[in-house]
Amino acid sequence: MINLLDLDPNAFTAFFAERGEKPFRARQVSRWLHQRFVDDVGAMSDLARPLRERLASEVDIRAPRVVADTIAADGTRKWLIDAGGANAIEAVYIPEDDRGTLCVSSQAGCALDCAFCSTGKQGFNRNLSTGEIIGQLWHANRALIADGVTAPWMTAGRAPITNVVMMGMGEPLANFDNVVAALKLMLDDNAYGLSRRRVTLSTSGLVPMIDRLRDECPVALAVSLHAPTDALRDRLVPINRKHPLDELLAACRRYLEKAPRDFITFEYVMLDGVNDDTATARQLLALLRDTSCKINLIPFNPFPGTEFRTSPRERILAFQRTLIDGDIVTTIRKTRGEDIDAACGQLAGRVQDRTKRKLGSRIPVVATR
Ligand code: SAH
Ligand code: SF4
Repeated sequence: MINLLDLDPNAFTAFFAERGEKPFRARQVSRWLHQRFVDDVGAMSDLARPLRERLASEVDIRAPRVVADTIAADGTRKWLIDAGGANAIEAVYIPEDDRGTLCVSSQAGCALDCAFCSTGKQGFNRNLSTGEIIGQLWHANRALIADGVTAPWMTAGRAPITNVVMMGMGEPLANFDNVVAALKLMLDDNAYGLSRRRVTLSTSGLVPMIDRLRDECPVALAVSLHAPTDALRDRLVPINRKHPLDELLAACRRYLEKAPRDFITFEYVMLDGVNDDTATARQLLALLRDTSCKINLIPFNPFPGTEFRTSPRERILAFQRTLIDGDIVTTIRKTRGEDIDAACGQLAGRVQDRTKRKLGSRIPVVATR
């Protein structure tokens, strides 16, 4: 059976064309699925009965299986989703004053092994399918609506999720095809209809894939920089040994030609005594002189077994001041959902590691609602 959630907009149209159905049928079904969050073709009441019967025999809608659902004191909500085997991934909803953001995972685990990342410490298990990626957005919208969640931006039938960040577990550009298929659904008017500016992909710097994203589906880009020199970045973000800073920044500048926003966001995790002094901030200014960008400083979120500590607040503020004085817009990321381990870099899900066999390094205890 074909899982309808696995089809990107083109595949969706082709599926109906191959069965002799008009394009508007594809649009109708897409809206039932991705805008009304219906998971039963039998309930798509404006389709003729023969078509409904045919669909019922050829397709199903296999949504992600949620195994835990936790809400933090600040309204952040985390879904733990079964990814088969002994694996689970996480999606996080972050309500703000003017938007609802969903942080979406792209892989069970991650092979890139950044020194300060809980997901990386688990190793890699597998890529998520298109259906598993878009299914996180599908499920979050559906669950929030079913629970009667209201928000100021939910006027005129708008869905609860207005923004997506591909910043959950995994490196999205290492699962390029499935991630791009899911991005295309996020942007499609008959699916989620989000503007490119409201969809952000974060990468640790897979340079060739940054170019492909620019050509195939340019959404807002965030790059996990974390260090201004190759010596330091080699240690923190090992993919830097393959794609060093000069190559990465050149790719960022090429991306800007097509980017929906006229800047790249550089993420920079603040690690106590490692990358957080003002001399390092000045190196960062020099490095980024020719690249239109904003910097988002992320206070390090600790997890069990990590060797790193969070920079003290004064040092983060001094670092920010140096960057702002150097004319780069610099924000400090607000930590959200810390009490449910939903903050950046804390997403551990549950991954049966095939690369490092560090099984069960961290199985979170979550309260089920
Ligand atoms: N793999 C992608 C996207 C997922 S990580 C990437 O690396 O960009 C999303 C962001 O969280 C990245 O900027 C990452 O560096 C950051 N991050 C990882 N671990 C963290 C931690 N423990 N504390 C704070 N931020 C962290
Ligand atoms: Fe992977 Fe991103 Fe974590 Fe690095 S920071 S290990 S790329 S998820």
